[in-house]
Amino acid sequence: MCASSSTLIGDIIDQRRVPRSGRFAGQRVVGEINCACNSCELCAQGLQNHCPQRTVIGILNHDGAFADSLLVPERNLLLVPDSLSTEQAVFTEPVAAACRIPQQLQLNGQSVTVLGAGRLGNLCAQVLAFHGCRVRVVGKHEHKLRLIAEAGIETVQLDRLQPEQRWDLVVDCTGSTSGLPLALQLVRPCGTIVLKTTVADSQTMQMAPVVIDEVSILGSRCGPFDVALQMLQKGQVNVAPLLSARYPLQDALAAFEHARRKDALKVLLDVA
Ligand SMILES: [Zn+2]
Repeated sequence: MCASSSTLIGDIIDQRRVPRSGRFAGQRVVGEINCACNSCELCAQGLQNHCPQRTVIGILNHDGAFADSLLVPERNLLLVPDSLSTEQAVFTEPVAAACRIPQQLQLNGQSVTVLGAGRLGNLCAQVLAFHGCRVRVVGKHEHKLRLIAEAGIETVQLDRLQPEQRWDLVVDCTGSTSGLPLALQLVRPCGTIVLKTTVADSQTMQMAPVVIDEVSILGSRCGPFDVALQMLQKGQVNVAPLLSARYPLQDALAAFEHARRKDALKVLLDVA
């Protein structure tokens, strides 16, 4: 088993080997994190990710990857293709989250600014560029911006950013209360702001510009695992540079320390 976390609150098990008998016995799988009831009105509409009875692996009333054992409904599991390494497969969930944007919006060559050069910002930028958008990423950390530039995507240091309201689409991956106000300074009238990260702190801001400029604000969360697996398998998104380190289980505390570093993107734990 290979578990991963980039934050101290932990991440989910992205990939594991199923040990007993059954449909996926002995094979590598990834698990959709939203475990829905599949009997309510929203589930009937195909909105399982919004099921009010859902548990969410590692987040809401459901153990996460660092539990001794983890039960996941079989319908949540997808087989990892043999051609995909475990190190690639652990990125299925964040790649799927990035793939949620093209599910929600018709993409046709829009200009896009992604705010935040972390793991999700990087993956959103790659997915949107793959869908033909003209993408640039705004970030703070030199190392993270360099990884994005190496993927052929334009980058800008936050302190050199010019506030120009000319971008069709602004994707906030900052996880910070400063993300949305900054996005409003960049999006063009009648453009769209996609909020990809949840912000824990409460936020107050002037909403008048949203009305005056007729800006659409779109919340965006979990996405399709099957699409993400396909993109990973076809090499349409490159996750190798996002793997910061891997540690054996006995060095778990060092792994957590590493994951706290500003330059860390994804730290893996090997559970033998
Ligand atoms: Zn339901």
